[in-house]
Amino acid sequence: MKPTPRILLPLVLALCSHAYGQASADPFGVLRKPIPDKLVILTFDDSVASHATVVAPILKQFGFGGSFFICDFDSFNTRKDWYMTWDQMRTMSNDGFDMGNHTLGHAGGASIGPFLGMEYEFAANNLPKPTTLGWPVFMNNPATTPDLVAHHYTFGRGGVGRAYVPTADDPFNIPCSFFNGTYDSFVSEAQRAINGRIMVLSTLGCLTRDSGQDARTTCGAGILARRLSIPMF
Ligand SMILES: [Zn+2]
Repeated sequence: MKPTPRILLPLVLALCSHAYGQASADPFGVLRKPIPDKLVILTFDDSVASHATVVAPILKQFGFGGSFFICDFDSFNTRKDWYMTWDQMRTMSNDGFDMGNHTLGHAGGASIGPFLGMEYEFAANNLPKPTTLGWPVFMNNPATTPDLVAHHYTFGRGGVGRAYVPTADDPFNIPCSFFNGTYDSFVSEAQRAINGRIMVLSTLGCLTRDSGQDARTTCGAGILARRLSIPMF
């Protein structure tokens, strides 16, 4: 399966040239242009309200992109103080952020059904059809790939804790690392984005303090986003 030439979620950060070897050559001919060093992709899962109220405005301020994987997680339909509204998601989409599919039902290892279920919600709420996805609980199901291709998906984020090598990795199981909310962990992960590798970071949280959930990630994502504009090395 060839990845498309489109960069999933472009975000270039200032990184040092840490000593990692060159990623594999391009035996399948998937690259249409070289992958620059310092390419980091930010992804945010689970439709949390502060993705719209905290993260997106900061990313927008600095001209960065991001991918937000949407599901009807937990009390999505009843606690709109905790989870994004469709109005907020439409605004983010109009601002150029990638609004991706995280399934209806937060279904790890899903078949196509839960993805189509979330697509229906997108359509019913006037959001563009998603073409990227994040596997819930990082659980990929390769058997679903043909159906995803047939429904015009291009990339899917998995989760194996290493950098993404587009010339070698399955574009429907893109490796990512979990961002734990600290600046040091971000720096150490981002330093892997060299020599043909792309670092994909996953942030589950950035939950509002009102939700009673992990406020640390709220602070962490805010700090991270603000520091993206500061030379780190
Ligand atoms: Zn999730």
